[in-house]
Amino acid sequence: MPTLLPRPSILAIEPYVGGESKIPGVNRIVKLSSNEGAFGVPPGAQKAYAAMAAELHRYPDGGATALRRAIGARFGLDPDRIVCGNGSDEIIGALILSYGGEGTELVMSAHGFVMYDIAGRYAGCRVIKVPERNLVADVDAMLAVVGPRTKLVFLANPNNPTGAMLPAAEVTRLRAGLREDVLLVLDSAYAEYVTRPDYDPGTALVEAGTNTVMTRTFSKVFGLGGVRLGWCYAPAHVIDVLNRVRGPFNVNAPAMAAGIAALEEQGWVEASVAHNDQWRATLSDGLREAGITVHPSEGNFILADFGSAETAKAADAALKARGLIVRAMGAYSLPQCLRITIGTAEECGMVQDALSAFMRGLDD
Ligand SMILES: *Cc1c(COP(=O)(O)O)cnc(C)c1O
Repeated sequence: MPTLLPRPSILAIEPYVGGESKIPGVNRIVKLSSNEGAFGVPPGAQKAYAAMAAELHRYPDGGATALRRAIGARFGLDPDRIVCGNGSDEIIGALILSYGGEGTELVMSAHGFVMYDIAGRYAGCRVIKVPERNLVADVDAMLAVVGPRTKLVFLANPNNPTGAMLPAAEVTRLRAGLREDVLLVLDSAYAEYVTRPDYDPGTALVEAGTNTVMTRTFSKVFGLGGVRLGWCYAPAHVIDVLNRVRGPFNVNAPAMAAGIAALEEQGWVEASVAHNDQWRATLSDGLREAGITVHPSEGNFILADFGSAETAKAADAALKARGLIVRAMGAYSLPQCLRITIGTAEECGMVQDALSAFMRGLDD
């Protein structure tokens, strides 16, 4: 045993396990394990990224000015109230370290995004996971656990991995039930995919008060998970805090160039969302017909429930045998489930075929 030890809370962290990308002995693999967009990288973003190669000796613009302007123009937001990050994960971590820490509590729903748990423990927060109702965050139950030490409440909306979405009125009720000195972080990584009219990604609540932050990402619909690019929209005093603690050059230059180009890609989001709507419905219906429980999802993925951890594991193996990689859900306390990203039409068909065959095999 080394005598040099980290703070005790660090060793209580379960390391993040990303979506797998390889199957030993299988050449053609289809990766549906990390909710990356079905269409790959926007062509304009590829060009913009490549064009930065001859400029890599230069430090990036530490203020991410052009990118914040482009985000502001696209989403109708004040660029001065945007901070960009090396993925939204960086911003999530910075918020927790800035407002949480030893002696404080972070509240999240039971099957909320694991990064809140990891970053919360890193900061020394006590992380409170609140039971959900039918895999949907329960606003009353979350409010009920908030105590004097609670500093942060996290809600992914829609949530990963459940796909569940809270309507704007419910999120407003959550905010209204929290003290003024509690920061509510609305993680809207999948906002672009939501087509329901009763949704707000968090913009309205950020603007209505002084204690709500919305985080967003280029990793999903914009197809740029590999460059690590995220951002948040926040009250001015929170922006000021983030600008003090973030690395001065936290977002790299090719990532910013690619991000701006992705925002400019004509029709990209519309085509991605139309595809997602169609194939999420088709695959969900098809898997239900095969006898699998599929939870309603507003994201670019579905959560398939096989009833037991054993069956889910066997289904995962059956998918892998056909080169299909999806996400096991043990880390989310949902070992009976697999999370499946909506890929291309062909990929969705492959998942359907594999799981239909698997379910038929169970009956024999
Ligand atoms: C994918 C995802 C993110 C994105 O994180 P990045 O660091 O921006 O890639 C954030 N929150 C949730 C809930 C996600 O599923």
